[in-house]
This record gives sequence, structure tokens and C-alpha cells, in this order.
Amino acid sequence: MARVGTISTPHGEIQTPAFIPVGTKATVKSVLPEAMADLGAQALLANAYHLYLQPGSDVLDEAGGLAQFMNWPGPTITDSGGFQVLSLGVGFKKVLAMDAQTFRRDDVIADNKERLAHVDDEGVTFKSHIDGSMHRFTPEISMKVQHEIGADIMFAFDECTTLHNTRRYQELAMDRTLAWAVRCLDEHKRLTDERSTKPYQALFGVIQGAQYEDLRKKAAADLGGLESSGQSFDGFGIGGALDKDSLGTIVSWVNQVLPEDKPKHLLGIGAPEDLFVGVENGIDTFDCVLASRIARTSAVYTMEGRFNLSNSAYKRDFTAIDDECDCYTCTHYTRAYMHHVFRGKEIIASTLATIHNERFIVRLVDQMRQALLDGNFADMKADFLGRYKHRSGQARD
Ligand SMILES: [Zn+2]
Repeated sequence: MARVGTISTPHGEIQTPAFIPVGTKATVKSVLPEAMADLGAQALLANAYHLYLQPGSDVLDEAGGLAQFMNWPGPTITDSGGFQVLSLGVGFKKVLAMDAQTFRRDDVIADNKERLAHVDDEGVTFKSHIDGSMHRFTPEISMKVQHEIGADIMFAFDECTTLHNTRRYQELAMDRTLAWAVRCLDEHKRLTDERSTKPYQALFGVIQGAQYEDLRKKAAADLGGLESSGQSFDGFGIGGALDKDSLGTIVSWVNQVLPEDKPKHLLGIGAPEDLFVGVENGIDTFDCVLASRIARTSAVYTMEGRFNLSNSAYKRDFTAIDDECDCYTCTHYTRAYMHHVFRGKEIIASTLATIHNERFIVRLVDQMRQALLDGNFADMKADFLGRYKHRSGQARD
């Protein structure tokens, strides 16, 4: 199901498959937008929930939209806030449990975390993680916030479940997500007409259904064929609970059902081995905070796998992080220097490591695209995975 394509937006094109780096709060932490462009990022993904809380979506609207506000010349994407509202709500702030088979309860929360969100059929009431103030997101409010933020691609507001939830709850959440999808399309249409002087913003629906084949396929059929107010989804995100072992299976179920001519985005997936699985099952774009988040802890990707620059083994290692990498960091700095700035807690450590990791992942997906064009994707995948030592995770901010 692997394919190459082009997504056209008012701010430029995205050649797919592509990895989209994450700038949650309208910044890729520690890196200038120019450096992101230099390392090959074609678009950036920010988060509606975080920007709504701070500085407020109205501020971005006044600034002329997200791209203008953050001085990014290319396409932008916003995640709807559904995942953040609900993941913060159950206390799984950083990582959706990928391997959790032990709980099957709907009231599960992480240890020592106060429940911050409550969902009902109309929307979600939640407490700000910044100042404890109470807020409410509905499909209509999410659309308003995302229209004000002004990204080229937005996501519908969905109820994101985890692998902890029961099957019965997954069914309820899916029905709710479908009802919310209709409301998102209606409000999106209304706002597009009302703000007709603004560049067109595309709206992607989000496919839930956890690990259940019938639920995933039903969600893909329902949202794939959905039309309301003369509006249908411009593309789709595959979200929710994704068990690493069944990632490829779930993506293939969904992509067999979704309309072939629309883009498919895999939300929050970015470990190298998972990107191959996504591409070969028809995914066009990915986003993940993992590359930049682990960079700030001194963990870097190489063709041989991941390692930590702060490890004392690198104190006198005067080679590049990865001698096959063409990034600014690898062409100008050594592991020994990186070790030194990480140990000294220098700010430049985050900057240089993030540039390397983002380049590594962006380039890897670009190389998959080229391999698809050249007809040797299977060989390229076998070569990479033969050398790369696996470690991974799923991560959204
Ligand atoms: Zn590099």
C-alpha cells in the first residue's frame, strides 16, 4: 500500500511520505525555524490545546496565523486538542500506554495524578495544567480555535481512548467521535464561509477504534464517507490506542477502507522502525515529538541505533554523532564536544542534538520516498533494519 504523493496547501507543498516535526507551542524547542527548513522539514505541527491556553488562539489570529506568528515559511498543521485534553485528563501526560494489557477499566488514572478532564456527549471539561483554571472544549470550540490558529491542515475533535478502556467504552467513544465529526464539518463549513478572506484550511477526520478490527473498519467507513453541510474530510488521521505489535495491521485495516485519493496521517508515531511499518501500509505523513524530546536528554539516532551522548564513553570520541549524517551538527561537531555540552548543561546541547535527530528522521522518510520512486523500498528497509537496533515509543505533546 506504500505510495508517493504531493499534498498542496496555501503555504506550499509537502512531498510524501514525509515526517512532520512537532513544534507544540509554535516552536520546535531550542531550534530556529531556519534550521528546521535547512534540515529538510517540509511542514511543522503545533498543538491547538497548548496554543489555546497560551497565548490564546485569538493572539495567533491577530498575528496573521500560526506560520506568520512563528516565522515559519511553509505549511503548518494543528492537532485538535482531543488527545491532549483527554491524555492529560487521565494523567498519561507524555506517552499513551503502548503495552498496557493489564487494565480494562474506564476510570483508570495514572498513579498520584488528579483527574483533569471529564468527557460527556457534548464535549470535554478540563482543568488547565498551567494554572488550574476550568475550560471546556466542544467540536465547535475546537474548530473555532483551530481556525483562529490558522494552520493549513487541522484535525477534527475526537475522543481519544487508551488501551486501558473496555471494548464497551471504545464503542461509546467511537459513536461520540462520529457525532463530533459531523459537528466539526458543520462548524468548519460555517467558519470557512465566515472567514472567506483567509487561506483555505483543510480538515482531517480522526479514525479511532483501538485494537479492534471491526471498530477500526467501521470508523474508517463512517468517517471516510461522511458528508455534512456539503463538506467532507480532506484527509484522515489515524489515532488513539496503537499497540506497537499491531500497528501495521491496524493501519492496513483502516487504509483499505478509507478513500484512496485522500492523505493519511499517523498521529504521534515516529520511531524509525514504526515509520517503515506506516509507509508500507499507506501512511503519507507522520508527526512525533520523540526525536526532539529524546535529543534534549542526549539520546541520538544513528544508523546503528540510539545512544546517549552524555555517556562517558564519548568523552574523547572525536567522530561525528553519525558519520553518514549530513546535518549541520554532524558536519561541524564531534561526539566529544556534544558530550561536553551535555555534561555542562549548556543550552546549545539541546539545539545541536535536536537538529541531528530531526534531520535523521526527516531524511529517513525522504529516503523511503526515494526508494519507492526507485522501486527498491524492500531492499532499503532490509538494509536499514538489519543495522538499526530497535528502541521506540509513541509520543504526542
Ligand atoms: Zn547529524
